[in-house]
Amino acid sequence: GTSEIGLVGLGTMGAALALNIAEKGFDIAVMNRTSSVTRDFVANAGDLKPRLTATEDLQGLVEALATPRAVILMVPAGDVVDDHIERLRAIMDPDDLIIDAGNANFRDTIRRAEAARDSGNPYLGIGVSGGEDGARHGPSIMGGGDRAAWDRVSHILTAIAARHEGTPCATYMGPGGAGHFVKAVHNGIEYADMQMIAEIYGLLRDGRGADYGEIATLFERWNDGPLQSYLVEITAKVAAAEDPKTGKPLLSVIEDTAGQKGTGRWTAIEAQHLAAPVPVIEAAVAARNMSAVKAARKAGEDRFGAGAGRFDVPGDETLERAMIAGKIACYTQGFEMLAKASEAFDWSLPLPEIAKVWRAGCIIRSAMLDDMAAALADAPGTSLMLSESFANRVEDSTPGLRDTVSTAIAAGHPVPALAAAVTYFDTMRSHRGTADMIQGQRDYFGWHGFARLDDDGRDHHGPWVE
Ligand code: NDP
Repeated sequence: GTSEIGLVGLGTMGAALALNIAEKGFDIAVMNRTSSVTRDFVANAGDLKPRLTATEDLQGLVEALATPRAVILMVPAGDVVDDHIERLRAIMDPDDLIIDAGNANFRDTIRRAEAARDSGNPYLGIGVSGGEDGARHGPSIMGGGDRAAWDRVSHILTAIAARHEGTPCATYMGPGGAGHFVKAVHNGIEYADMQMIAEIYGLLRDGRGADYGEIATLFERWNDGPLQSYLVEITAKVAAAEDPKTGKPLLSVIEDTAGQKGTGRWTAIEAQHLAAPVPVIEAAVAARNMSAVKAARKAGEDRFGAGAGRFDVPGDETLERAMIAGKIACYTQGFEMLAKASEAFDWSLPLPEIAKVWRAGCIIRSAMLDDMAAALADAPGTSLMLSESFANRVEDSTPGLRDTVSTAIAAGHPVPALAAAVTYFDTMRSHRGTADMIQGQRDYFGWHGFARLDDDGRDHHGPWVE
């Protein structure tokens, strides 16, 4: 065959990615389980048709490709990926490359990369972010696996990626599951960013009694300032949208139970495995879980009554500062978690490059990431919050966060992620914490021993035993 690359799975993401690849001038062979989808896809590809080759099955796909081959999988994560790897390996040459571009759990990617290495086959697991529109016009790509395999296809991946001022957002993150891990942390941060925005929206809607139009205008204005980001931009659009069916504000007819496919949850789970503190992300995952139990919330409201209703919500500038401080706390946690994972898995993750790859194409793209990339490059090993360019912003914005959170809590209005952010700040500036009590308790009931401030070693004990 002559096609430079193959793609399996013409769903939402696969179809968009295939068109993007063809548009950038690469010949691509495509295949889908349901063959009619493949035929319709190519028939409707317009100008791009000459670059696309429709194939009926995996054998046909393999035959359509130039050697050494490269095949992208864009199928649901899990067993479907293992199944495709097995079937493809049976009919491909040893040096043919398989690239899993779905949302795999990075532990699966580590396992598949190890199996591939053991049998001498090249393998990549790449995180692709930006939804359908990103896949079609420029996603953010976080690569993981063999460096040599990455180099074989990086010209294609950088050509299709989003660009930030000309720099492509496609980067090799490290071996094994590094790319999918970075993608998972991206999604955890995405959950937290979204939740903090939703909490500010709740303060405006319920506490201040603002209407949807006012809320939309405010987020639009915030999008012109330091909070400039895709999520703040679409928040304004969502708040302004009208329901075509009833003519009411769209938000007023949307049920308040959040869905999740689980990638944000993975971040919280892996953070626990790594003992990496990410309380803002955890609060955001917990908030989605609480949103899902609507009947229980109804029972709670029936028994205890809802929070205060209207109350004196801080001014717009204070709320803006609250979001800035919350965002810095959350990203600090995310990058600290990446640093910890990098060490634990021996990945050498390039933290400044991660901030750069998130600057365009992906859901958490924002103006602030540019400064974060610079801060992480300037002071490697320093917490983002303490870096020269962010410490001042933290000082400037945290009082606004504190004001917002304490007003909300006093009124009985829930702000779980923002509260986690301010508590993280207060904890991370307390040299003398309270774990002396935890250690005392552990020693009392379990003789676990503790370290003393005035002596070396950890094996000291309290006077519990006669
Ligand atoms: P879709 O549900 O739109 O498409 C799934 C594709 O996989 C279809 O082509 C389907 O073929 C095929 N497929 C499903 N089950 C099987 C099977 N058992 N055997 C063979 N083929 C199968 O999914 P998406 O495009 O949304 O997602 C694909 C991957 O990309 C997932 O891992 C997802 O998590 C990830 N992703 C999705 C994003 C999004 O915004 N949607 C963003 C980033 C990543 P058929 O037509 O025959 O059903």
